[in-house]
Amino acid sequence: MIGIFGGTFDPVHYGHLRSALEVKEIFGLEEVRLIPSSQPPHRSQPHATANMRVQMLNLAIANQPDLTIDTREIDRAGASYMVLTLESLRQDFPDQPLLLFVGSDAFSQLTSWYQWQRLFDFAHIVVLTRPGFSVLQLDEFFAVRQTSDREQLSEHLSGKLYCQPITQLDISATAIRKIFADRRSPAFLLPDAVIAYISQNKLYQAQIVH
Ligand code: ATP
Repeated sequence: MIGIFGGTFDPVHYGHLRSALEVKEIFGLEEVRLIPSSQPPHRSQPHATANMRVQMLNLAIANQPDLTIDTREIDRAGASYMVLTLESLRQDFPDQPLLLFVGSDAFSQLTSWYQWQRLFDFAHIVVLTRPGFSVLQLDEFFAVRQTSDREQLSEHLSGKLYCQPITQLDISATAIRKIFADRRSPAFLLPDAVIAYISQNKLYQAQIVH
């Protein structure tokens, strides 16, 4: 099974890295692919360039063979629609279950994603919930796909919805950008090598950050 973790990674931080590692262990995945988006369809454009965000990811996972970076959304022109990403991953991995991890916040917006129903044609969706909040209000489309049996994920290539409680570190890229803009210390929120890269390249210095 292959895990997929999409995001802007502007910049990557320990919230992303810790959850990617935890889901790899929980689900016994071969690998977790971190997939930086090029033009996120649902939000404002990134502050760092695609190339810089990939460089920061490379620095962050340098000694972590369990995590890999997949640049297909950046290499592909146009909007970073997840359904197209999953379709191309399915071509590359025809026999492997694919697990798309989304936070519960992202999941609550899922029905606004481009061709969202087709996501299930290519992958399972695993919703990372905060412990104690694992019950989701689901309409029929999701309810028929939901399973609480983890075995189902390895027995099928795609099509299931699964909730995984996980302890999220309270870290966001937005807060980190603000810390840099305010000239405060970002220590212990993201890897030192990424902090050094941001400082060297004078990223996130503008006072108006969001
Ligand atoms: P921003 O603050 O710019 O919106 P972010 O920190 O939320 O960024 P993204 O790159 O937008 O990070 O998120 C990528 C993925 O990582 C999403 O699925 C999101 O739910 C997840 N994620 C973000 N922060 C955390 C965290 N602290 N713990 C676990 N997962 C996280």
